[in-house]
Amino acid sequence: MSLWESSLAVRIPVADGLLGVKPMSHSNISIFVPHLGCPHRCSFCDQNAITGSNALPDGEYVKALLSKALDDGLDPASSEIAFFGGSFTAIPREYMLELLESCQPFLKQGFQGIRLSTRPDCVSYEILDILRDYGVRTVELGAQSMDDSVLLLNERGHTSLDVELASSRIKEYGIRLGLQMMVGLYGSTKELDILTAKRLIALNPDEARIYPVAVMRGTTLGRLYESGEYRTYPMDEALELLAKLLSMFSESGIPVIKLGLHSSVDVESRLLGGIYHPALRELCESLIYRRELESMIEKEGVREFTVPKRNLSSAIGHKKSNLSYFREKGIEISIKPSDSQTERLLPAQI
Ligand code: SF4
Repeated sequence: MSLWESSLAVRIPVADGLLGVKPMSHSNISIFVPHLGCPHRCSFCDQNAITGSNALPDGEYVKALLSKALDDGLDPASSEIAFFGGSFTAIPREYMLELLESCQPFLKQGFQGIRLSTRPDCVSYEILDILRDYGVRTVELGAQSMDDSVLLLNERGHTSLDVELASSRIKEYGIRLGLQMMVGLYGSTKELDILTAKRLIALNPDEARIYPVAVMRGTTLGRLYESGEYRTYPMDEALELLAKLLSMFSESGIPVIKLGLHSSVDVESRLLGGIYHPALRELCESLIYRRELESMIEKEGVREFTVPKRNLSSAIGHKKSNLSYFREKGIEISIKPSDSQTERLLPAQI
């Protein structure tokens, strides 16, 4: 995975938004702290494959990375310094402080703040005092599921109550809250995944990430998968579910800043199965558009549509799948780009 996760597509639902896609120029300078600090090895986790990193960064590495980004012309005003992987607030205290300290001169140069990801059971008031003092702007919690039996089966080592407590504490401190959920975990069902989304939405996060399970070799899930004891949802059912979850967050005004893993050689070389596709988000968005097209064709008899330019490929579908879908039903449609600011698909004459 690239260390510089640039031009993150941030999804901003609008009043009548279908997908709420609005690219904002936001960058994360991403620094990975793999596995250190994790009191558990969760059933699905292979951080080294996901982050493509084994090495532990130190303060000097962080400073060099940030200096280079600035030299390369990065605009700090639209960027966060992001510590991902592992459980940042559970790493040895001295090391955590070294990393946070190394960011301080760069915060003075105008970076938006620090972003980090951690576990819900590692967010005490004492930790939050430190994070606030060091300019942490966003904390992402790996909630993964809000069903306690699913959390237990997947060796998470925390409960749904921990997610609720940590979320309210983070908000109490005025720190932005990100919540991450997984889809298709061992022991979960589509109903439980929808329930998880509902409970996360009720916590009113500033943003969310949705990670369907990609089963990696060498993990507990990998072993269960190889023995035939565990399977995730078939891809067509998974896409329907993900499209529903995406719509649920968008309709609640919560941007989903990531859906699915970055595609990479590291992930693909260790992948055994699960819900993985390099264009997963586009597939889900295409499906949402397909449903919208179906409804408008049925209710209004429309065949020609316009859509904001940035959403054109989602509306047409991955490899033009939406056009062929309707063609196979004997319906010819056309979808043209427009300069409209609304996110909705519109009949062409409007
Ligand atoms: S807490 Fe996160 S990084 Fe640690 S083992 Fe679990 S999923 Fe992996």
